[in-house]
Amino acid sequence: MSEEKDFTIENYLQYLREKKFMGSKCKDCGEIYVPVRKICTKCNSVNMEWVTMSGKGKLAAFTSITVGTPFFVAKGYDRNNPYCFSVIHLDEGPMVSAQLVGVEESKPEQIEIGTPLEVTFLETEIKGDTRVDLGFKPA
Ligand SMILES: [Zn+2]
Repeated sequence: MSEEKDFTIENYLQYLREKKFMGSKCKDCGEIYVPVRKICTKCNSVNMEWVTMSGKGKLAAFTSITVGTPFFVAKGYDRNNPYCFSVIHLDEGPMVSAQLVGVEESKPEQIEIGTPLEVTFLETEIKGDTRVDLGFKPA
């Protein structure tokens, strides 16, 4: 029996809570998935393994958001204090979306596509619980 945890979003999020950025890698063709997948969409293999992602990548796209979801509004983001949501092209190949921090959100014209980024774990206290979200910042 393998000791690998199931390749579920729940386990992926559990790793995030432990501040581990994990993906699943197809043992047959090497394709890497973030968030994880059980089945390789490239070769249909179910031979997956957990891999620790380097957390490094480049900014592929972003939007500056002035009207956020209730979660972001509660964190203090609004029209005058926008936040950036971004798509990151990870060094290992996959694309992920996450909040972009450490940039001048109110000056999106200064944020450049292709900027090298690294992973960061964003903690938010909600009713005594700590929520951890994936984030990226300039490397
Ligand atoms: Zn595969």
